Amino acid sequence: MSQVTYSGFPRIGLKRELKRALESHWRGEITADALQDTARELRQRHWQLASNAGVDVVPCNDFSLYDHVLDTAVLFDAIPDRYRPVFASGHLDGYFAMARGHKRNGHDLHALEMTKWFDTNYHYLVPELQAGQQFRLAGDKPVAEFLEARALGHQARPVLLGPVSFLLLAKAVDGSDRLALLDALLPAYVELLGKLTAAGATWVQLDEPCLVLDLDEEARAAYRRAYAALATAGGPKILLASYFGALGDNLPVAASLPVDGLHVDLVRAPGQLDAVLDALSPTQVLSAGVIDGRNIWRSRPDKVLTLLRKAQSRIGDERLWLAPSCSLQHVPIDLEAETALDPARRASMAFARQKLEELRTYADALAGQAEATAALAAQQALLDAQAQSAGVVDAGVRARLRTLSPQIALRRSSYATRHAAQAETLNLPPLPTTTIGSFPQTDDLRKARAAHRGGKLSDVAYDDLLKSEIARVVRFQEAIGLDVLVHGEPERNDMVEYFGEQMDGYLFTKLGWVQSYGSRCVKPPVIWGDIVRPAPMTVAWSSYAQSLTSKPMKGMLTGPVTMLQWSFVRDDLPRETVCRQIALALRDEVHDLEAAGIQLIQIDEPALREGLPLRRAEWPHYLAWAVECFRITAGGVRDTTQIHTHMCYSEFNDIIEAVAAMDADVISIETSRSRMELLDAFVRFRYPNGIGPGVYDIHSPRVPDPAEMLELLRKALDVLSVDQLWVNPDCGLKTRGWPEVEAALRGMVGCARQLRGEL
Ligand code: GLN
Ligand code: ZN
Repeated sequence: MSQVTYSGFPRIGLKRELKRALESHWRGEITADALQDTARELRQRHWQLASNAGVDVVPCNDFSLYDHVLDTAVLFDAIPDRYRPVFASGHLDGYFAMARGHKRNGHDLHALEMTKWFDTNYHYLVPELQAGQQFRLAGDKPVAEFLEARALGHQARPVLLGPVSFLLLAKAVDGSDRLALLDALLPAYVELLGKLTAAGATWVQLDEPCLVLDLDEEARAAYRRAYAALATAGGPKILLASYFGALGDNLPVAASLPVDGLHVDLVRAPGQLDAVLDALSPTQVLSAGVIDGRNIWRSRPDKVLTLLRKAQSRIGDERLWLAPSCSLQHVPIDLEAETALDPARRASMAFARQKLEELRTYADALAGQAEATAALAAQQALLDAQAQSAGVVDAGVRARLRTLSPQIALRRSSYATRHAAQAETLNLPPLPTTTIGSFPQTDDLRKARAAHRGGKLSDVAYDDLLKSEIARVVRFQEAIGLDVLVHGEPERNDMVEYFGEQMDGYLFTKLGWVQSYGSRCVKPPVIWGDIVRPAPMTVAWSSYAQSLTSKPMKGMLTGPVTMLQWSFVRDDLPRETVCRQIALALRDEVHDLEAAGIQLIQIDEPALREGLPLRRAEWPHYLAWAVECFRITAGGVRDTTQIHTHMCYSEFNDIIEAVAAMDADVISIETSRSRMELLDAFVRFRYPNGIGPGVYDIHSPRVPDPAEMLELLRKALDVLSVDQLWVNPDCGLKTRGWPEVEAALRGMVGCARQLRGEL
C-alpha cells in the first residue's frame, strides 16, 4: 500500500501557542525550559494529529523555534563571530540574538537579514558566510527530535535543508563564492547522517527547493558533488525534496543524483509527472506532492486520482508515497476550529489537518477501498456543485471581463500632458511634501475597533471617533505645513482586510494564522467567489477629510495585485483573472473618489514585486498582467486627477520597465535605509514621472536628523529633476508613535522648504 506522509507542519500552533511562549520568553516572563516545554507539546500534538489523520510516516526536525534556515546555520556552526559571546551566556540567547538582534549587557547586535522564502509569505534568516568558513556539527536537534517522535510511537523521517540550497540561500558577506564552501560543509552533513542512522532513522529528507529555480552549471555541479558525497556516507536512505514548482531543466540533474527517492510538486507542476516517472530509476521512490500545501482548498479528486493512478500503474504502490506539494507550514492548522464559517464555504476548504485526511483517503482509494473511492466521488460532486453556487460566479463581472476593451487600461493623455494639467489645477509648490497614508494607530483606536466589532460600541459612536481622529490628523498636517494631505486611515485594521471586508467574494477566518516570520503571523483573507464591490468603500472618509481643508486630500486604496498577493486565492480561475476582477472593483472606487472631488488618488502596490514567479521565463507574463491590472484600476480618470502609487520592500532594477509601464503620475518608494540606492534603477531608466524617494525610515522609532534628510534629498536632486521630486517618508506611519511622527515630519517639511529656497 502507498505510504501517506508529509514534509512539514505549521509550528506556531492553532492558537498561536508558540508565539505567546516566544514573546513571554523574550520579555523574560518564562524560562528557556518553559519555552521548550511548549515547543515539545506542540510537536507532540501535531504528530498525534497527523497520526490520527491516517499518516504513516511523520516528519521531524520540521519544527523550529524561529526559522529552519537559522536552525541549519546554527546546527553547522555557521555563526558570525559577533554573536558568539551571546551564545556563551546561553544557547537560546545566541540563537535569538541571530534572529532578532540583541541589546543587553553591553552588546548591541543587529539581527541577520531576513528575506522571503521563495515566493511564499514566510521569511527566513539569511545565513552569513565568508571565504574560508569552517563548519562542524554543533548540535543534535534533528537526532533529538527523531528520538522524541519515536519515543511517542511515531515512525519519523528527519527533514534537513539540503547542503546546496543552504549555501544558495545564504549570503557571502565578503562577496566570495558560496558554493566554494560545499566541500567544507559536506563532512558535517555526513556526520549528521551517521548519527541519524545510529539513532535508527531509515530515511532522511533533504530539502532542495533551489532545484525549481534557474540554476547555472556551477550549481548543478554542486548538486552532483554534494549528493555523491552524501550517498557514500552510509546514512539513512535519502528522499530529495523539490517543491514550489517544476524541476524543469533541472530534472536531469535531480534524477541523476544517487538518492533513494524524489519528492516533486504535482500541484504547481502536474505536467512534470511523466518526465519524472521516466527519469526515476527502478528502485527509487516517488513522493507525489498532490495536495496543495500553499492553499486552503480541498483537492479535486478528478485531477489528483488521474495523477496518482498513472504513477501507481507505472511504479506500483510500494514506491509511491502520497504527500502535500510542500510543507504545510504555509496553511492554517485546522478547519474544524472555524465554527463561524458558512458551511457551504467550509465544505470546499481544507487546512493542514484536512489535507492529511485527504491523503489518507486517496491512499485507501488507490488500495481499492470502496468507501474511500465513494468519499472521493462525493468530494468531486460537492466541488462541482459548489462551482455553481451563488456568489462563485457573478454574471455582471464576468460579462464586464469578457468585453474589456484595451482602452480600459489607458489614461486619457500622456504623462507630459497630464503633468501640465495637474500643475495648473493642483498648484503645488516645487518639492511637494506628503505622507504615505496611515498615521499612528493609537491604542484607543484599536480598542474602539475591537469594541465596535464585538458589538460593544455603536456604529454612531465608532464613526464619531473616526471622524474626530481624521479631523485631528488633518489639523496636524495643516499645522506642520504638509502640501498634500491624507485622512490617516484610522478606519483600517489592515490594508487588505479593510477592502476585502467590503467586497463580495472575500471571506475571513478566525484562526487561519500562517507564520510570516518568527513569532509573527498573518491571517490571509480568502477569495472564494467573483469580486464585486457592492458600494463605495472609502469615499465617505476621503470626502469628509477633504471637507475639513482647502489643501488637496489624497485618496488611499490598496492595489489589485497586493489584494491578490496577500490573500488565499480561489484555484478554479487563473490568478490574473481574479486580479482583473479586483481591478474593476477598485476602478469603480477610483471613479467614485474622482466624482466626489478627490483630485489625488494613491493606489498602493507594495506586493507587486513579490508576486514575481520563481523562473525568469515567467516574469514577462506576470508583469504584463500585473501592470495591466494597475492600469485598469487607474484608467479613464481625468488628466487633472493625479494617480499616485506606493511600493515598499522593493528592489527595482529588474522590474523598472514594468514600474514605468504602470505610468502612475507619482510613485513613492522606500529608500532611506539604502541611502537612495534604490533610486538608481529609476535614474538609469530615465524614469520620467514623479518620484517620492522616502527620506524617513518609518521602521525605526528613531527621529531622523533633518541634516540626514536634507542630504538624502540633495542626493536625489543630483539625479532627478526638480519638478519630478516629491518629499515623503518611506511608508505609512501607523506603527509609530505621535511624538516621533510629529518631530520627523516637521523636520521633513523644513528640509523641503529649505531646498525650495535654494532653487
Ligand atoms: N497606505 C498604506 C499605509 O500608509 C501603505 C502601507 C504599505 O505600503 N505597506 O499604511
Ligand atoms: Zn509601504
